[in-house]
Amino acid sequence: MDLNYSAEEAAFRDEVRGWLEANLSRDLRDKMTNYAELTKEDLLGWHRTLATRGWVAPDWPKEWGGTDWTVVERYIFEEECGYVGAPPLIPFGLRMCAPVLFRFGTDAQKQRFLPRIYRGDDFWCQGYSEPGSGSDLASLKTRAVRQGDHYVVTGQKIWTTLAHHADWIFCLVRTDASGKRQDGISFLLVDMRSPGITVRPIILMDGGHDVNEVFFDDVKVPAENLVHEEGKGWTVAKYLLGHERMGTGRIGQSKRELAQLKELAARQTKDGRPLLEDTRFADRLTRVEVELMALEITNLRFLDQLRGGRPPGAEVSMLKIKGTEIQQALTELMMQAAGPFAQAFRPVDNMDFDHFTARLAARYCNMRKTSIYAGSNEIQRNIIAKATLGL
Ligand SMILES: Cc1cc2nc3c(=O)[nH]c(=O)nc-3n(C[C@H](O)[C@H](O)[C@H](O)COP(=O)(O)OP(=O)(O)OC[C@H]3O[C@@H](n4cnc5c(N)ncnc54)[C@H](O)[C@@H]3O)c2cc1C
Repeated sequence: MDLNYSAEEAAFRDEVRGWLEANLSRDLRDKMTNYAELTKEDLLGWHRTLATRGWVAPDWPKEWGGTDWTVVERYIFEEECGYVGAPPLIPFGLRMCAPVLFRFGTDAQKQRFLPRIYRGDDFWCQGYSEPGSGSDLASLKTRAVRQGDHYVVTGQKIWTTLAHHADWIFCLVRTDASGKRQDGISFLLVDMRSPGITVRPIILMDGGHDVNEVFFDDVKVPAENLVHEEGKGWTVAKYLLGHERMGTGRIGQSKRELAQLKELAARQTKDGRPLLEDTRFADRLTRVEVELMALEITNLRFLDQLRGGRPPGAEVSMLKIKGTEIQQALTELMMQAAGPFAQAFRPVDNMDFDHFTARLAARYCNMRKTSIYAGSNEIQRNIIAKATLGL
């Protein structure tokens, strides 16, 4: 196994680094590193910048705009973007709906939706979860009844991230309630401007508006928006979830936050000495740093397997668990390092100290979500137990 970058890979990293340096505005980078809320324009603006460069969808097939990078180059690109503080690319269109369309979509669906997703013309969201149907997703109840050339959809989705920005939603709906639960589920693409859709915000404990409830009240959806066959939506849903979990490790971002944490801990003092030199604090920080290094090596190990043509399996769950635990641990240490400066429960911009520390409490609260979304970490542990222990 070779975990070192080749000369070509190192040259590629330098190219990406140089391009990011030249194209990511200071304003956007500051917003990211100070944990400010990003607007729809911020998110789409960065998407379009990358699309213009041809780098917005590296893992798509080349004829649709993919870069043909190796898995290692893809990893380098993501890590550099995370490290420099580039805004996240919203995954719902690029990394969830698109792979599904490549695998299961008709030619007409591909032609209609993929170029718009690539360019950032449409903003997508994910309509899987419902009240009472999160981990137990197959129990979902939102109904779609076929009437001639369309379906009539009735029901409710919840925790729908960024639905308030969305033009389209991909939904799991129940088209048959008679047999095995999984067999009665279908996958529909729904225009968010359709009459009968209501989006209601859910404000989370950090005061931010990321998630929503989405209500469907006799919404008419053209039958041509059904992906794959009716009743085969569960196959589509599972395929999509594998792609969703690939993107949750966020190693580059954690590396940047670790560096920020060290800077903060060097500035703060305890008993007249930098906090960074405090034995107990240094011990906790070092443990997270070691975990992060171990995650990176593990990730590279999996990439080496992929390079050899072995598809990923339950490893994706391991990356999700460790990656999100590290993200949460970093926010805990930042709160500890900032001490009373992190007491503002909601971000306050005109306070006497810097914006970064003023947003830490909100950030800490917000990051509790990472062990819940994309399949909770308990569910990921179940997956690993089944795959490796045969339980
Ligand atoms: C910030 C945020 C954004 C989200 N965005 C979206 C989105 O855009 N679209 C979307 O469709 N969904 C979204 N979700 C929903 C997310 O997928 C669900 O919250 C998640 O799957 C858990 O489901 P639940 O909330 O119903 O909790 P439950 O399934 O009720 O789980 C409650 C607790 O029980 C545990 N548990 C449940 N079953 C088991 C089991 N079998 N073994 C062990 N432990 C178990 C869980 O781990 C959890 O701790 C989002 C959630 C959050 C927090």
